[in-house]
Amino acid sequence: MIDTSSQTIVIVGAGPAGLLLAQYLLRRGYRVEIYDRRPDPRQIAPDEQRSFPISLQYRGRRALQGIPGLEKAIAAYGVMCRGTYVHRQGKARRIPRQHPILTVDRNRLVLVLLEQLVARYPDPARLSLTFDCPCQAVDSQAQTVSFEAEGQSVTVPYDRLIGADGARSTVRAALVANHGLNCQQTYVPDAYKSIFLARTNPQQGIELAPDFIHACNIGGDARILLAPQPGDQMHGAFIFNAKNSPFDGLKTTADVLDYFATHLPTFRPLLSKAEAEALLQRPTARLTTVTCDRFHQGDRILILGDAAHAVSPSIGQGCNSALQDVEWLNQLLDQHQDDWSQVLPQFSQQRVVEAHALRDLSDYSFPRSKALVLEFFLRLTVGRKLHQWFPQRFSPFVFDLVLDTDLSYSEVLHLSEGWINKVKRSRAAIASAPEVTSWGDSDDNEA
Ligand SMILES: Cc1cc2nc3c(=O)[nH]c(=O)nc-3n(C[C@H](O)[C@H](O)[C@H](O)COP(=O)(O)OP(=O)(O)OC[C@H]3O[C@@H](n4cnc5c(N)ncnc54)[C@H](O)[C@@H]3O)c2cc1C
Repeated sequence: MIDTSSQTIVIVGAGPAGLLLAQYLLRRGYRVEIYDRRPDPRQIAPDEQRSFPISLQYRGRRALQGIPGLEKAIAAYGVMCRGTYVHRQGKARRIPRQHPILTVDRNRLVLVLLEQLVARYPDPARLSLTFDCPCQAVDSQAQTVSFEAEGQSVTVPYDRLIGADGARSTVRAALVANHGLNCQQTYVPDAYKSIFLARTNPQQGIELAPDFIHACNIGGDARILLAPQPGDQMHGAFIFNAKNSPFDGLKTTADVLDYFATHLPTFRPLLSKAEAEALLQRPTARLTTVTCDRFHQGDRILILGDAAHAVSPSIGQGCNSALQDVEWLNQLLDQHQDDWSQVLPQFSQQRVVEAHALRDLSDYSFPRSKALVLEFFLRLTVGRKLHQWFPQRFSPFVFDLVLDTDLSYSEVLHLSEGWINKVKRSRAAIASAPEVTSWGDSDDNEA
């Protein structure tokens, strides 16, 4: 049994994965140092441009529940949603979920994770946090990692190094450059803008359900997804094909308001003039996916979360799987009595297959051709009833398996192969193959 208290674990990235991991590792007795390139979120105003709601189901929530009190602290700033309303031409279809979904703003999630961490581990000898400090290089021979802090290069030693530094991970880049890690980074065809709407308009007698996600497909690959926030606000993402942005044709605030009146009539009374103006100015974010053939190097370096397997947010599993990575790592540390030489290869062996399955589910659960969109809604509604009546003949639809069960992603993929392959074929037909990006390309997955 190793003496964990003599080991320093450096975590690069204070996102959801890095912060939850710190809780688990500190509980095991390790010393933890966290470095993040952004400013301390406790000391700055929330950045609306980089904010979006995250929905957490079984997988992510169970990882939070492993630390007593943590999920409750997060839920205090989120909303438990019972399903989704899909709005179309003034009508709404209700798609309930068997299990509630915890929706919370991404920046708020990070802030609560951070505050909870510091409250539980106030001793700087056990936990140190450094912000405004981008990771620059890793020297695995010397077991050091370098950061830029106030214009100076700072080098720190590590016993173990965890890259939780998001889709553009520097730790991952070091493994690619120096250790032959195979990794492909591709653009998701979708781009998005954050959007903030009211949930009610008392003058017009409008009130959308406070405990449901609200969605609307606009056509031309554009859609809007809104999660209710505590109070009367909704917060979400306006998603569209990066090559066919509806915003290309919108030049003024009046254009935006008109666009909503025509294409999103349900949401027009909930869009203020100020938000229409802000939406026009808000930058468009593009997203990349990351696929690696392993997640570790030797017995000292690991990447997890988006750094290891960023996916399209289409089925809302990136954060769930990032948090699940942490729970999985903790279980392996239990099983192997903190012997990292066994834990890290096991982690790669077990999680890479899950990450690849999640990638397929994220890319191909949601159809893009008109004919399949119709079938998609039939499967979501009629198919669900058929499964209830004839469970032997009709298996649950992919979304129900992802959102209402804790089956592994590879099991979900196996059970949903028919649908996934159909969407894959239709994608090939409309030639929306993802573009491969180079290492230096900028993306915006990371909030
Ligand atoms: C519009 C949108 C909607 C989404 N909705 C959902 C959803 O509903 N459900 C869901 O599960 N997931 C969702 N996701 C995905 C989710 O946001 C990510 O999967 C999740 O944030 C990954 O967490 P992470 O900690 O691995 O990485 P990140 O959240 O990207 O955090 C990485 C951290 O590393 C830091 N960092 C980066 N580079 C460096 C460096 N060189 N040095 C030091 N620090 C660095 C960053 O500042 C950041 O704090 C959504 C994503 C988007 C874009």
